[in-house]
Amino acid sequence: VLLLGAGIIGLTVLTQIGGVVLLFAWVAGRLLVRHGRVLATTALFLAAYAVLTIAVVPPVAALGGRVPLPCGSEAGQRLRVPLLLCALNRHYVDARLAGFADALATDVDRQFPGTTTVALDGNFPFFDGFPLLPHLSHDDGQKLDIAFYYAGPDGYAGGALRSPIGYWAFETPPAGDECPDVWLTLRWDMAALQPLFPSLTLEPQRTRAALEWLFEQGPAFGLERVFLEPYLAERLGVASPLLGFQGCRAARHDDHIHLQMRAPG
Ligand SMILES: [Zn+2]
Repeated sequence: VLLLGAGIIGLTVLTQIGGVVLLFAWVAGRLLVRHGRVLATTALFLAAYAVLTIAVVPPVAALGGRVPLPCGSEAGQRLRVPLLLCALNRHYVDARLAGFADALATDVDRQFPGTTTVALDGNFPFFDGFPLLPHLSHDDGQKLDIAFYYAGPDGYAGGALRSPIGYWAFETPPAGDECPDVWLTLRWDMAALQPLFPSLTLEPQRTRAALEWLFEQGPAFGLERVFLEPYLAERLGVASPLLGFQGCRAARHDDHIHLQMRAPG
């Protein structure tokens, strides 16, 4: 039961609907199955979670104004979210923000044909005020993270990311510009992971073009804030009153760009 409780809490934090689905699978397993309950509960959970995620969550989320961003891993997609984040139902945004993300991807692809813009964590499908940890502010459909664009030895690495989830493979701050070690912080270092990530480098032209488009066109779409570590803005040579720094206690923004829309209306 302890394990079940931990599973329900963990899945709720990670996927919003997963905890409830696990609870139903467990109850159904106890009522229906005598032998091999763990296996039956697991199978039931996976089946119910998949059906809900694919067929039920999108139309119900749409009632609250949130739509899923396109998922995938194919080459040539203009805008996509990595499949793992989609499977966790973390790719929902307000319909206005979905249109904005598509307009961004369209413009970067216009300037650099063949570019794939990768979106990362958005929001959960349901309820305002339910945060998508570790991003405390991603709780109302108005927040979206965009991955950097990366290059390999042969140039632009179409839609590739340095880490399987898009996060945690940080750029390197200049010496002396690191955040001080503070207690109680959501800022991760993941130092042990860094050597494991492929050695792609940030592709400055596309990343700069995306930021400049956001600063110029964003306000007309309702864009309110963009978070990026200041040393990266300086390195890329971009500046804007929209650009902010989240502080040293929040999630880092040298592995992605954070977009935040004005509340609608
Ligand atoms: Zn964010």
